Amino acid sequence: MTIHYNPMKCTGCAQEFAFPSIGRSYTDLPEAGGRHAAHFSAMLLQQAWCHECEGASWVERIPGEREFATAAGLRRRADRSGYEGIDDDLLEIEDDDFRWLYEHLPHRKAPPRCLVCASTHFTPIDATQRQTPIVHEACWDSPIEFRGFSIGSGGLQTGGRSYAHRFYDAEGDVVWAKLCMQEFLVGRLIVILHARRHDPAHATLAAAIDLVINRASDDALAVLAPLAAANNPAALGLLGALHYVGEGVAHSGTEAVSLLEKAKALGDACAAHNLASLYATGAAGVAKDIARARQLFAEARAMGGQYERDDFYAHDNFTVANRTFYHPI
Ligand SMILES: [Zn+2]
Ligand SMILES: [Zn+2]
Repeated sequence: MTIHYNPMKCTGCAQEFAFPSIGRSYTDLPEAGGRHAAHFSAMLLQQAWCHECEGASWVERIPGEREFATAAGLRRRADRSGYEGIDDDLLEIEDDDFRWLYEHLPHRKAPPRCLVCASTHFTPIDATQRQTPIVHEACWDSPIEFRGFSIGSGGLQTGGRSYAHRFYDAEGDVVWAKLCMQEFLVGRLIVILHARRHDPAHATLAAAIDLVINRASDDALAVLAPLAAANNPAALGLLGALHYVGEGVAHSGTEAVSLLEKAKALGDACAAHNLASLYATGAAGVAKDIARARQLFAEARAMGGQYERDDFYAHDNFTVANRTFYHPI
């Protein structure tokens, strides 16, 4: 069971506002193949009140050149603790991540956005202050207080059964998402949801992916149906992925294979990757086949569909590498 801690509370009506669970990283995965070094970096977060979501949320924290330079100096010292005036997050992240962020974020043009709804209409929350500038409009503008995060939580609740992890480019646009569907003892299955920018139906596909992530799969299916009927490769691939994990449609490996094969034949690299994952775990009605999975992962990468770090592809057992599994009921 996940205990949801609600660190923002209205002083008038006592309504509480939880910070949403989000998984996020930056990636500089190329849109088309040719390079074999996918990179993923941690994203720094700032807690905020989103006026579009009308609730507590997270936005990207984008430090300036000066803060990066100071942090770089401190990171070279053996003892990094106890420095005033600099947020700890820049000191705690991995070296690779720090380098990537320092290289990309100071030149960032796009402003930070709410990581739930992509709005720029938000007010940052100072985690050291109980008072906030936020008022509860629905109850005569009563002040909303920040009650602090529970120790060790870092404000992030990721204990949910199923979750989505979004991957962003250096300008803060969502590139693709990883959907992890978990059912106790039955399976923990992962699919990639990716609408490529050059796809003529990109906007529609991206909207459908957003609906899936926000658990509005019926709406997503309605959006995808005409595209799939017109044989849009990404739409067919998305439907296949949903059948593999059983989200909004029948949990069916055979349906999934048929749709993913069709999408792959039409050139969809993401479908090739998801098909590989399906054979790595097995699926409802389809037996596990590691040799086939290995072949398909190689084909996916050759098509420009690399969604894992390089070392993932060298594993003997992809389900161990990814902590995925499927047990027929
Ligand atoms: Zn209130
Ligand atoms: Zn929002």
